[in-house]
Amino acid sequence: MSQKFIPLSVPNLKGKELEYVAHAVETEWVSTGGPYVNDFEMKVAEYAHCKGAVSCQNGTSGLHIGLEVCGVTKDDEVIVPILTFIAAVNPVKYIGAEPVFMDCDDSLTMDVAKLRAFCENECSFDDGKLTNNATKKHVKALLVVHIFGNMADMEGIIDIAEKYNLRVIEDATEAIGTYYLNGKYKDKHAGTIGDVGIYSFNGNKIITTGGGGMIVSNNEELLKRAKYLTTQAKSDELYYTHDEIGYNYRMTNLQAALGLAQLEQLEGFIQTKKENYEFYKSEIDKIPGLRILEFKDNIRSNYWFYALYIDESYSINRDQVIQYLASKKVQSRPIWGLISDQKPYEGSQIFKIEKAKEYLEHVVNIPCSSNLIREDAEYVVECLKQPQVV
Ligand SMILES: *Cc1c(COP(=O)(O)O)cnc(C)c1O
Repeated sequence: MSQKFIPLSVPNLKGKELEYVAHAVETEWVSTGGPYVNDFEMKVAEYAHCKGAVSCQNGTSGLHIGLEVCGVTKDDEVIVPILTFIAAVNPVKYIGAEPVFMDCDDSLTMDVAKLRAFCENECSFDDGKLTNNATKKHVKALLVVHIFGNMADMEGIIDIAEKYNLRVIEDATEAIGTYYLNGKYKDKHAGTIGDVGIYSFNGNKIITTGGGGMIVSNNEELLKRAKYLTTQAKSDELYYTHDEIGYNYRMTNLQAALGLAQLEQLEGFIQTKKENYEFYKSEIDKIPGLRILEFKDNIRSNYWFYALYIDESYSINRDQVIQYLASKKVQSRPIWGLISDQKPYEGSQIFKIEKAKEYLEHVVNIPCSSNLIREDAEYVVECLKQPQVV
């Protein structure tokens, strides 16, 4: 029998997806009105233990709105991670604001010590306003990403944000279901600790609506404003009065129908992903030159993506691993390129970038779908035990 293709991360739609979507079609509620949208918003807020949730078309539009409701304007700067998916940072540019790129630590999330050093040494703080000494611009906000389902150091981040009056936008697009097990934020979910958080339901995320996103917050004013801006900023429903520029970012009932069915299965997906992670970790850590990066031990991670670290002592390098696995029908991919190396960001401000460069060169993601079966994971491990140049 020929080996089947093992994808990196694909949807798992074996619950009530068909039933709910069929219901949406049968009742002819397929657009942005309809009961599933409100229901999905409510259930996500309930799941993440926060005051409310506002649906949107995808994670990217959610981040755009997140920045807007935090009051970021074209004259401001936003501190962002350098090692992440570019969709986390593009919305800063949609607004016309400028990013300041920050390094990661060994968890791949924002390095809090460097963040503190930047605020302390490169900026001035007067009248409740942090100003970047180099550009004289107002550093208004901080956008953190919970990479691969890990949790950024929110205690450290909120501490700095409070000290320097920074708004905090959490890009939790990869981390729905991740929460603290202990400490100051015990039981708090990724996305619900800062001013506003964003989840994504893109096809490669842990649960999917095809494309979709959710803005979550404990601040009712921000939630109200997010709903207003995602629905064309209609100040009067009947007479179509608009006092601001709004967006058509609301999720459709079809997407929400999928989302509800997926949310019902989320804890099960996390359980499967945890088991596969533990299997990979125990087997791969035994292979000289390889290891699986860990999730922090003070959190319950959603185990979204597995990061394989390839040391110099392994016989083939990152790109060779990707090619070799591809030849074995195993899909893998490098971690993203540094955002400051992408054309639209050339010349952007960067602050002491070191770790991000190292991890970029050494990490690849390996198959992690919630429908990955043990036999497939065993096959991936067997391949990694016999590296070849192809
Ligand atoms: C997936 C993702 C996004 C964007 O979400 P979409 O729903 O695809 O728009 C943003 N940031 C990060 C870190 C992501 O992984």
